[in-house]
Order: sequence, then structure tokens, then C-alpha cells
Amino acid sequence: MTQEAMIALIRARGIRDPLVLGAMGRVPRAAFVPEGQKRQAHGDHPLPIGHRQTISQPYIVAMMTEALALTPSQRVLEIGTGSGYQAAILAEMGMEVYSVERIPALHQAAQHALEAAGYAQVRCKLGDGYHGWPDHAPYAGIIVTAASPEAPPPLLAQLADGGCMVIPLGRPGRMQELWQLTRHGEEFRRESMGGVAFVPFVHDAA
Ligand code: SAH
Repeated sequence: MTQEAMIALIRARGIRDPLVLGAMGRVPRAAFVPEGQKRQAHGDHPLPIGHRQTISQPYIVAMMTEALALTPSQRVLEIGTGSGYQAAILAEMGMEVYSVERIPALHQAAQHALEAAGYAQVRCKLGDGYHGWPDHAPYAGIIVTAASPEAPPPLLAQLADGGCMVIPLGRPGRMQELWQLTRHGEEFRRESMGGVAFVPFVHDAA
């Protein structure tokens, strides 16, 4: 599948935001998938990136990005840098992007891929995303790309008033549901976006 065909498919599945569609049309997805997988880079499915992790399916990336409801130059936090592809999409949309990854090799590879593809401005950090990245809070959007049983309280605290968090909730190996949480003061309105399958969010409680 070509990048054009990938965009046509995402559009057909209901993604309308021109900012999201534009960015997904410009970011070279092949630059974020491992050697040997490049020919399948634009298929609408997840791909392995090593360390038992995956780069998410293009449609899911589009849906989650659209649900963040961002406008250019806003600050956004991603938990689970993985390949760096999602971070590149957000950067291409003109956002100020912060991303946290817990696996050192993925953190490093993503940083290199982001630099090589022209997104050196993305700020990457190695660590447990459960704690977010308080130094740059609040964030207009927070996107979590691994499934956890509940939204980590430190992340909720780092979301700006009126901001959206998009997060898959559910236990590993069980049904997960994608949620959009919108902050109104100290209240969070929850809207379900349907069933999904993500790799587990790993948090080693101290
Ligand atoms: N957004 C990525 C998808 C990566 S898959 C992309 O576009 O390619 C999810 C990633 O979340 C994995 O790399 C995994 O290591 C990471 N992850 C899981 N739990 C985490 C945690 N507590 N903190 C930071 N990263 C985590």
C-alpha cells in the first residue's frame, strides 16, 4: 500500500481533521519502522518494532490524534514513544511535543529516527511515563499509547483545564477501551471511543 492509499483508507474510516490528515500525508512512516518491515509501512496494521512492542496501526494513530482536539503550537505529552511515529505526527502538526519511553533502546532509536526525519525539536525522555513530565506541565493534550488499568493520577494532574487525554484502559490480555477524558476544572468527562488492543503500560510500583 502507498502512503496515498493509507490516507484514503483513514479518510474512508471517518477521520476528517485536515491537520491530522495533512500530517499523516507528509510524515514518512517508513522512516519509523525497522529494516525488513519497510515495504509494509503503509498497511493499516500495527508492526513489530522489537522488544515486544509495536508501532500503532495508522487508523488508530489518526483517531487518537484527532481526539486530542489540538490547535497548532499547543503543548502535548505522549507516553510510550515507541518508534517515534506518533510524536512525529504531532510535531508535523506544529505542536510542542514531549514524549516519554521506558525502554532505553527504543528511546534512543526513536530519538535518532525523529532527528533523521527532521523532527529534532521533539523532546524525548527515558523513564516511567506513569509520572508524566511535570517540568513542562500543564499539557493541552496527553496521549498514552499503552494500556493501563486506570488513568495514572499524575497524568491527570498534568492535563490543562479544557485539555484532552486519550488513553486505552483495560488489563493486559483483556478487552481494552479507548477513552477521551476532557478536563473541566477538577472534573473529567469520559467518552468511550470503542474497543482497542494495545501493548501493556508497564509501571513498577515503588
Ligand atoms: N506511540 C508509539 C507506540 C509505541 S507502543 C509509536 O508511535 O510507535 C507503546 C510504547 O509504550 C512501548 O514502546 C512501551 O515500551 C511504552 N511504555 C509502556 N509502558 C510505559 C511507561 N510506563 N512509560 C513509558 N513508556 C511506556
